Amino acid sequence: MDKKKLTNDIILIGSLLVLAIVSLVIILTTRNKSNLIATVRVQNQIVLKIDLNKDEGKDFVVDGINGQVRIHVKDGAIAVTESNCPHQDCVRTGYVNQTGKPIICAYNGVSITIEGNSSNDIEV
Ligand SMILES: [Zn+2]
Repeated sequence: MDKKKLTNDIILIGSLLVLAIVSLVIILTTRNKSNLIATVRVQNQIVLKIDLNKDEGKDFVVDGINGQVRIHVKDGAIAVTESNCPHQDCVRTGYVNQTGKPIICAYNGVSITIEGNSSNDIEV
């Protein structure tokens, strides 16, 4: 009798576990499909909105305060690929596809922030 109860418990726990994993997979899959929009600002003025899904493989050039900044979209991520700034921090940041991780070129007054439609992350 007790053994049967134990088996039932194991089945119940197992089912719950499977359900939890399935839910998690659905949540993660849905999240990945959310549209990520990169907002490019020059001195806090929005100059470009880039859809990281639709603008795959595209190049953008932004006029910063001290020169041009080249932006590239690849695999749903965005990066500064060229800039005339002395420290090249923006170029070294590399490809970003997460909200709350901005790319900043202080020299050119350029900032790139990523915003997701269904994301609860804090906006910078
Ligand atoms: Zn820079």
